Amino acid sequence: MSDLSGQFGVVVGIANRRSIAWAIAQAASQAGARLALTYQDDRLRENVEELAALTRDPLVLPCDVAHDQALDELFETIDREFGGLDFVVHGAAFAPKAELADRFVRTSRDGFRIALDVSAYSLVAMARRAHPLMVRRGGGSIVTLTYLGSQRVFPNYNVMGVAKAALEASVRYLAHDLGPDNIRVNAISAGPIRTLAATGIAGFGDILGIYRDRAPLRRNIAAEEVAAAAMFLIGAESRGVTGEILFVDAGFHTAGI
Ligand code: NAD
Repeated sequence: MSDLSGQFGVVVGIANRRSIAWAIAQAASQAGARLALTYQDDRLRENVEELAALTRDPLVLPCDVAHDQALDELFETIDREFGGLDFVVHGAAFAPKAELADRFVRTSRDGFRIALDVSAYSLVAMARRAHPLMVRRGGGSIVTLTYLGSQRVFPNYNVMGVAKAALEASVRYLAHDLGPDNIRVNAISAGPIRTLAATGIAGFGDILGIYRDRAPLRRNIAAEEVAAAAMFLIGAESRGVTGEILFVDAGFHTAGI
């Protein structure tokens, strides 16, 4: 496991103990990093505070990634408290529930805008604010979470698939733009995991079963396995890797049938 002692990171996307971002936060804290953990709104504040207490000397801060002012305040506080930043874990995604059950052709303009704004643009918005803090540390690593629905059609994933395609393209453009400052940008494409976000996708249980039957490893994956890959992408072992989409899906994406 990577040694992240002396490093500062921010983790966005923790809702509860099932959140993939929480598994990553735990691993990063265990590896020695000091973390800023954010909560989307007051509804999730207590959850995140309780979990954060299990990490070493955390900062717990509000941040709705759909608001520039909230992002400005988050990064100002990180700058003041940490004086720099080594890594960002971006695990925020959202689409209005109606868009994840109806026919794709019925996607509303507002649903499209919200899904792309929260799930894709927010990575760019965070990277822009992290950039000067990472330059001060001589570089950094930005990791986001995506899904194969960006490339292939999964029933009911709908506009979230379009948002993940935009997210993955943003990873490549950010990697190209920030690479000269030694800032790496990568994504992990996770297999299905039962989390709060996943419960919003109609028929999610069927998807889990199909993965179990057809993935080369013949099983589903655990959030801890995504966290282990995230530790690789954050840490020095991956110092030559950027603009990459790393699949942690028991190999499902390789199967033709
Ligand atoms: P989750 O519900 O635990 O996490 C989603 C997070 O997004 C929540 O913490 C929520 O508060 C946050 N969020 C939504 N809108 C936000 C906003 N406006 N501002 C700030 N935060 C906001 O579910 P998860 O499955 O852990 O999702 C984490 C990431 O992993 C997402 O990008 C998701 O698409 C991706 N992913 C999940 C799966 C899966 O099967 N669970 C598979 C592949 C990728």
